[in-house]
Amino acid sequence: EPGLYIVATPIGNLGDITLRAIAVLQGCALIACEDTRVTGKLLKHLGIKARLQRLDDHASADARARVIDEARVSPVALVSDAGTPLISDPGYRLVREARASGVTVTSIPGPCAAVSALAMAGLPSDRFLFAGFLPVKDKARRDTLEGLAGIAATLVLYETAPRLERTLQAIAELWPEREVAVARELTKLHEECRSGTAASLAEHYAAHPPKGEIVLLVGPPGEDEAPVLDTDVLLRAALA
Ligand code: SAM
Repeated sequence: EPGLYIVATPIGNLGDITLRAIAVLQGCALIACEDTRVTGKLLKHLGIKARLQRLDDHASADARARVIDEARVSPVALVSDAGTPLISDPGYRLVREARASGVTVTSIPGPCAAVSALAMAGLPSDRFLFAGFLPVKDKARRDTLEGLAGIAATLVLYETAPRLERTLQAIAELWPEREVAVARELTKLHEECRSGTAASLAEHYAAHPPKGEIVLLVGPPGEDEAPVLDTDVLLRAALA
């Protein structure tokens, strides 16, 4: 069937590709991807031949329009390097424009680091807020975290190994009491999920610098959590 297929791919363990993902990729003449080398390797492993086209967030509107035109007449897939496209990965514009132009969009579900981490961390999973990657700079990161302070849900964040310790320190300052979990190298050989306070985890990872890919989860505020003082709000109130 013609249309745009959003296909999730493994986040480490190649065994996690779904039967449906394989069937759809086999049926596509064109596969739009982030990095043709990464997707080329996956396709080679699966024994699938298809034309690969790089289409990341910097792609032009024209490039997207050509992919959408092709999807009108034959099946076209979008994959990212790992996991579910659009989840801290490119694809939002393509999907939006495809739908707006009447092309059928189908999601072929599969691995997603955020959901896998939430499923294993033992933090409340009834309400969660996925916030992707935090800003890199200390002040911006703290501001972003402060902005999430009042949210009564588990926060799910993506983080890199070199930044983990500083982010844990920032969380320890803001929310010393909250339960935090670090899910690392999911589906891979050295998968681990460790929980505790942000301070205890910061201490652990200072002594054992982490490697690999990381999902950071922060439990919801307790009933007695002191509100974070938002200086901007206080300042505006004082000036009003
Ligand atoms: N679209 C992907 C998904 O569905 O999970 C996420 C892509 S994002 C560019 C990459 C980030 O996802 C990594 O920096 C890490 O935070 C997280 N991630 C991806 N694979 C992971 C894994 N195997 N274990 C832990 N975190 C992972």
